[in-house]
Order: sequence, then structure tokens, then C-alpha cells
Amino acid sequence: MRLDRKQTRLAMPSKGRLMEPATELLKAAGVKFRRRDRALYAHATGLDLAVLFVRPDDIPVLVAEGAADMGMVGWDLVREAGCKRRVKRLQDLDFGHCRLAVAVRDGSGIRKVRDLRGKTVAASMIRSTKAFFRKERTKVHCIEVNGSVEIMVALGLADAIVDLVQTGDTLRENGLHVVHEISSSQAVLIGHPKPRDPKLCATLRRRLEGVLTARQHTLLEYNIRRAHLKRAEKVAPGFDSPTVSDLEDPNWCAVKVLVPRKRVVEIMDQLEAIGASAILETPVNHCRL
Ligand code: AMP
Repeated sequence: MRLDRKQTRLAMPSKGRLMEPATELLKAAGVKFRRRDRALYAHATGLDLAVLFVRPDDIPVLVAEGAADMGMVGWDLVREAGCKRRVKRLQDLDFGHCRLAVAVRDGSGIRKVRDLRGKTVAASMIRSTKAFFRKERTKVHCIEVNGSVEIMVALGLADAIVDLVQTGDTLRENGLHVVHEISSSQAVLIGHPKPRDPKLCATLRRRLEGVLTARQHTLLEYNIRRAHLKRAEKVAPGFDSPTVSDLEDPNWCAVKVLVPRKRVVEIMDQLEAIGASAILETPVNHCRL
């Protein structure tokens, strides 16, 4: 099996915490492939597409240089690699949410970034860290560490750390807390500005968008008196407008509408209060809007 120079290439993380959700999303978008053992790439079934399995921190450069046409990666890594302006941010993927933050030891007396002037900061995202302190005009001594950033303060190596934080639990367990949030991040689909096959890239993006919209929404069906339809449409307006069909009783109609998954129960309460009945929720797997 060879990598065709003209075939579109999608770079996927071969390890780390984004690997599983990224692979799952790709499969949900109907991209099927069989990766042999430790193969570095696989051909997608029925598409002129090679899926590359690479280290997450290599993905931004591979896409920026055009060695891959697209890639799934944390936006923090795109920033860190200095590739923000060389790739297109095609689609936010709604997983891998985290923040790059400055954290200090509880009880250290350090309350703001300026208090760190002249102190030592340990970070793995060294480029983003240095850029941040430069922007803040706060001179610090930065040391680069790989992994276990949290322990550096306890070991006396640093006064503060800059690290990715999701819930803050790991920080708390290590007696640290956030004093400043530098930026937020999530997994994204990035693309080279001039991909090998723009049409295929657009199709893949649309497919992923369809899965994500479906994940974030759910389909509500209900019956309502026509006289109350306008009020119900205000509660759940849908994307364009709800689908309304006649019922045998001319005073009533049936409505189908997509609603944000997070708000579905609250919306059902409101529809019921307006007089809707037979309110049903159906999960959606894919959609194109
Ligand atoms: P990895 O180092 O390959 O396991 O993946 C780290 C990536 O996951 C980062 O580049 C972020 O985009 C994302 N991420 C989300 N939450 C966190 C977290 N709490 N710590 C580290 N990385 C996180």
C-alpha cells in the first residue's frame, strides 16, 4: 500500500486524549478505514482519502506545509506551533475543551500576573507562555518541561506554571489554583489553504458539521392548536422554521422542529404550558441543514 501524491490526506492524532474522540467523530461521519497494526496511514473506503496517524504536535506543521490537506488537533497546538495564520480553522469539533492558564501555589500570595515579575515559570507550551508574558510586559524566567508540569512548584523548581486545564481538579490535588486564563481551546478541523481536492475537503467538512449539529440538537414533535402556533414557534423557532403539517382536526397541526439538546426539557415544559400535546423527542444521528 503506497501513499499517492495526489490523494487527499487527513492527519489524525495517533495517541493522546484527542485520539479516541477524533476517531469516533470521523467514523460517525461515514469515513471507514482499516488501520493495520502500527501503520502510519490507511486508505478510506470509497473515498480518495488517506488517513494519516501522526503525533498530535506534528499535525499543525503537516497541514501548514501542505503535507496533509486537513487535520484534527487541539487549537492550542496550532498556536504553539506558530501555525495560526498558515492554516484555516475549518470547524470547531466540540471536544477537547480546555484553557491555557497561569497557576500558583495556594497561599503563595501571588494574585495577579504582574506579581510574577522576576520569578520562574514552568511550562510545556513554552512558545505560547513566552508570548503571553511578553504581551503582559512581565519579565519572567521560563523553563520548558514535558509533562507533570504541576509538580514543578512543589519541587521548588518554579513559582508558577502555565498549563492546560480542563476542570482544575489536577491543579487542586496539587495545591495550585489559577490566577489568570491566557486562552481557551478545543479540538478543531484545520485545513491547508490550497488542498489537493477542495471538493472532497468540503464534503468531509460538511459531513463532520452534520454529525456535530446532530449531536448538539434533538428533534421535537408535538401537536398544537393552530391558534397557539405562533407562540410555540417563539419557544422553538428551529433553524429556518419548523415543519408544520395538517391534522384531521383543522384547528390543530403537527410540528417538527430541531432544538438544542441541552435545553430540550425546558423547551418541552414551555410548549406544554402553551397547550402542546403528544410532545416527543427523537435523537438525530446525522443532519444537513
Ligand atoms: P495529548 O497531550 O495528546 O493527550 O492531548 C492533549 C490535547 O488535549 C491538548 O493539546 C488539548 O488540546 C487537549 N486537552 C483538553 N483538556 C486538556 C487537559 N486538561 N490537559 C491537557 N490537554 C488537554
